[in-house]
Amino acid sequence: MSKVIIIGAGGVGNVVAKKCAQNDSVFTEVLIATRTVSKADKIVAEIHQHLPDSKTQFSTASVDADNVPALVELFNAFKPELVINVALPYQDLTIMDACLETGVHYLDTANYEPLDVAKFEYSWQWAYRQRFEEAGLMALLGCGFDPGATNIFTAHHAKHHFSEIHYLDIIDCNNGDHGKAFATNFNPEINIREITANGRYYENGEWIETKPLEISQDIYYPKVATRKSFVLYHEELESLVLNFPTIKRARFWMTFGENYIKHLNVLEGIGMTSIVPIDFRGLKVAPIEFLKAVLPVPESLAENYTGQTCIGVQAKGVGKEGQEKVHFVYNVCDHAETYKEVQAQGVSYTTGVPAMIGAALMLQGVWKKVGVHNVEEFDPDPFIAEMNKWGLKVDELAGIELVKA
Ligand code: NDP
Repeated sequence: MSKVIIIGAGGVGNVVAKKCAQNDSVFTEVLIATRTVSKADKIVAEIHQHLPDSKTQFSTASVDADNVPALVELFNAFKPELVINVALPYQDLTIMDACLETGVHYLDTANYEPLDVAKFEYSWQWAYRQRFEEAGLMALLGCGFDPGATNIFTAHHAKHHFSEIHYLDIIDCNNGDHGKAFATNFNPEINIREITANGRYYENGEWIETKPLEISQDIYYPKVATRKSFVLYHEELESLVLNFPTIKRARFWMTFGENYIKHLNVLEGIGMTSIVPIDFRGLKVAPIEFLKAVLPVPESLAENYTGQTCIGVQAKGVGKEGQEKVHFVYNVCDHAETYKEVQAQGVSYTTGVPAMIGAALMLQGVWKKVGVHNVEEFDPDPFIAEMNKWGLKVDELAGIELVKA
């Protein structure tokens, strides 16, 4: 018997809402609140059409999540136990503030990022620890796929396979094809900011900075393909190297096709990816915001998307019996199948399902700890069991080194 507010009705919000509707014994009442309420209404209409037997009661509301008093009013009126924040990283702190003011637990899938600085890190949200503890509330950070499932896979390595993890490589392949010349799979602004920033990885206690897409290698993604993959900085590295201090090196790899990189280079070259606002006919517009308005909305890619994603974590180190060991834990997700199930492409699906699962574990008291926490601090077993149940099958591969030193 739980009341939940989902904030955001984009690609990920759509999946979270439909998964809550499937898991209706946990999620009894759900309010989808977002800036453009028609998007939330569309999700609810699709739930009534595709999941007519769901007992979850849905309602929708319009809210500006940058505005704490507006959020407080909404939370006080609906009285949720938990807020699932799948708006944009810019709203994390205002939503956390509103949760503290109204006594509501919090979950998100991406760490805070200021609108005017291309920089994302946990420090802003970790600074809320004491206030959440004092309020007796829990905030669960980064509960999508990466971050999210990748942190859980690392915790699984540590719990079941390794006495010491020394080398961690998180690998993320989207081998799908949406038929468009150029499009991003989730919010374009966030996605492009992530890729055009300098890369960074962790080695022997230090962060090594690289130029964007400077380091690459061909990686075999089981059941999917061998694809050229590039080192970039990803937020889960920050918490993982703290929570697993035996790690000597941690890297994040992602695939990009030649066509994608070609378009990105041109857009960057002419200044279209800049976050610095320019004057345009009396308006202040950041070029990247304008670019976002021109590009296909990620949800629109879903219908004709084919192919799979493969995301996993390779760990190397000392096994439980003291032997040298390499092990890989991963999920393969098929775009066409997720479209059939929840009218979403695989990237939204792999993010939205873990968010629903994290929320369910919090509401059921399986994961319970006041304060502000990253997912790897909790027992990975119930989470992985739920992933297998709710559409993200977890596979393992022993003894094969997919990512070379
Ligand atoms: P979308 O851009 O598709 O959706 C964002 C939604 O948030 C939209 O409905 C948008 O409203 C709404 N929104 C934005 N600003 C506000 C605001 N000020 N007030 C209220 N609502 C607002 O993004 P995605 O669904 O692709 O991504 C959602 C989140 O998931 C992002 O934070 C992203 O970084 C994260 N993510 C995490 C991943 C992971 O694996 N951990 C992977 C992919 C994404 P409107 O429609 O009006 O613009």
